[in-house]
Amino acid sequence: MKKTKFLFCLFDGLRRDFVKSNIMPNLNEFRNEWVDYPNSSSTFPSETRVQVSSFVTGAYCGGSVSDASKEGNFGHGIMANSFYDPILGFDGPLDTSDMAKMEEAKRIYGSLQKTPSLGELLAKENKNYSVITTGKIGNARLLNLNADDLQQRLFSIWGADISSELADYDGIIEKFGKVPKQSFPNNKVSQYATQILLEHFLLDRSVDVQVIWYNEPDLSFHYEGIGSKASLSSLECLDQCFGKIMKWWNAEGRSDGWNVIVCSDHAQISKQKQVSVIDELKCAGFKAGVSIIDDIDVAVKASYSGQITVRDRDPKLVKKIIEFLHAQDWCGLTFTRDGSHGTFSMAEINALSERSPDINYMLRTTEKVNQYGYAGSCYADNPDIPNGGGIHGGLSRIEINNFMTLGGDQMNRQKIFDIPTGIVDILPTIFHGLGIKIPKTAMGRPLKEAFLNGEFEPTWSETNLMASSGHYSQEMCIANVEGIKAPYLRGGRRVS
Ligand SMILES: [Zn+2]
Repeated sequence: MKKTKFLFCLFDGLRRDFVKSNIMPNLNEFRNEWVDYPNSSSTFPSETRVQVSSFVTGAYCGGSVSDASKEGNFGHGIMANSFYDPILGFDGPLDTSDMAKMEEAKRIYGSLQKTPSLGELLAKENKNYSVITTGKIGNARLLNLNADDLQQRLFSIWGADISSELADYDGIIEKFGKVPKQSFPNNKVSQYATQILLEHFLLDRSVDVQVIWYNEPDLSFHYEGIGSKASLSSLECLDQCFGKIMKWWNAEGRSDGWNVIVCSDHAQISKQKQVSVIDELKCAGFKAGVSIIDDIDVAVKASYSGQITVRDRDPKLVKKIIEFLHAQDWCGLTFTRDGSHGTFSMAEINALSERSPDINYMLRTTEKVNQYGYAGSCYADNPDIPNGGGIHGGLSRIEINNFMTLGGDQMNRQKIFDIPTGIVDILPTIFHGLGIKIPKTAMGRPLKEAFLNGEFEPTWSETNLMASSGHYSQEMCIANVEGIKAPYLRGGRRVS
């Protein structure tokens, strides 16, 4: 019998509205031909390295409402690309791309991702996991933290130190030349990754799950704008790369047992204006900074989707800050550990963990279109992103709607399923396809309905949560799917 395999192809930051015949014809054809999930969502926060961790563990960053009493047991624990946890004793947030801090955090936490990951789980089943990524260092590391111990391949464009030994970075450079320098659009790097996938990694017949993670169109969206000339060039290049992958798949991949899952990790919306939350808090008399030290008792991980941790988790100080935030026009959604004072509980978005901050806040979003006509705008606290540039990390409907399609001889054809799904469902779906046990730590579900002779879709319903305090009110839509404890996130906004 032919061995079942999965190729997971991820286009970072790709919005669904760009997948159409005049922009991405190859990907659009794949989506139309196979199984499409238009209501797929990222996990919270919708930052890349959280999605990476949700992909490799099948879990959200924290626990959900029904599991709140056992909060420590749920979620992968990567609370953001960078997050501040006073337990670590760092002078600022833990940047998951900082190798030295990650080592130190591992020593303190025991394990960086709290739940077993794809590499470990597949190794236990004597299956082979292999990764190519053009993403940042933290992205590469989190795709397989134990690649060397597990004797698996992990190729990162950032060099032999970030790649695993077995990936033989130097051998690849010798064979294919140096990795091109990054630029916007990052087309040369996307083409390079595609070439090594097709001409090197896929030649290894022992691989069961192969990942290729492209860092575009994310980069071009961020720095040049969603719909800009650079971003359209990036999308054209990615589609040509995908066309080459399809050529291989149709010629030999499919008959060799390969199924293909094509996703994005999140979408993006456009930054309208910079707001410095630390400065705003300081002006209001709070002793705010980047870590709790000396006379600083409010640690802020500033971003469009930011986090606040206060000294001794003092509930009175949390309340004061929430009251301040809710009085600001630039403030969007707010979450606390207990859902008090007009905030939602972090548990309601599967983000409650002992590593959680005291407050998760997002800056305000609107549906306003950007200069290229693409909907979704927000205030942001990200000085490196220009006004008009793309951003993500929050919970607006547009930014959390990731692209999600599956194809292959095990899959249905020409189906569109409206049932909510998300990044957390990829691992259970791959395990279902490979016929191996889905770990209890996975919080998603296998998309059985996508498979030939699969089951009917489970029933599902949406719930609109509301919270308010004084003039401030917010709403958050979640979806419950039969048999799944953790709800899917459908999007939220500040109402007034
Ligand atoms: Zn991303």
